[in-house]
Amino acid sequence: MPNLAALWEYQAAELEKEALEREISSTPARIKFNKLHNYLIEQQNAIRRTQKEIEQKQQALVKLNDETDALLSRVELEHSEFENMKADADCTAEEMTECRESHERLLGELFNIRRTIDELIKWLETALAEYKKTRTNATKAKREYDALKAVCEAEFENSKASLEAAQARVNEQAKAVDPALLERYKRVKRNHNAPVARVENNQCSGCNMSLPVIMIKRVLAGDGIVECDNCGRILYGSEQ
Ligand SMILES: [Zn+2]
Repeated sequence: MPNLAALWEYQAAELEKEALEREISSTPARIKFNKLHNYLIEQQNAIRRTQKEIEQKQQALVKLNDETDALLSRVELEHSEFENMKADADCTAEEMTECRESHERLLGELFNIRRTIDELIKWLETALAEYKKTRTNATKAKREYDALKAVCEAEFENSKASLEAAQARVNEQAKAVDPALLERYKRVKRNHNAPVARVENNQCSGCNMSLPVIMIKRVLAGDGIVECDNCGRILYGSEQ
């Protein structure tokens, strides 16, 4: 005959322990601490993202500066060529025009690069200011986080004794339950927080499903383990 009364007591001890755990993990300090924890992770990710972006833009800036230098050398070169052409009597008007046009193209390129550089610098200024702000906020949040962490740790320390006592009660009750029955209980526990349900008013008190008379009789007689057909909870006869 399965010792369901012992299992019922075990469940009560376990639910009590779980309620205590929930209470500890849902104090105002703990809730705020968890929220801050998530916020800090978000901020850290944002900081990392911005750092990477800033690095990329800085590299682009270096490249553009190199391109500007190369273009300036070419402008200088073409300028002296142009001066030579002017002094050269054999140089035709077409050649002079061609040289001037090439010169203007180079200046156009330089102008475009200059504009891109200006845009990049503007972007970097904004990003750096934003970055600084994020870091300041994160530092402030971290201070608050550390303070809350200490509060949470103290809270935990205070409830440690009652939590240990609750666990001890669970362990003690477990000794009275047949291991196979406890195994079955744990299986049902995956779907239901309270795997044992009383039979009340001919119903399963877990899901309120009306139970067949024959099933109730079996439960009340302690005839093996009876599970509710509807929810799968282990039925326990309260009139036993
Ligand atoms: Zn049920």
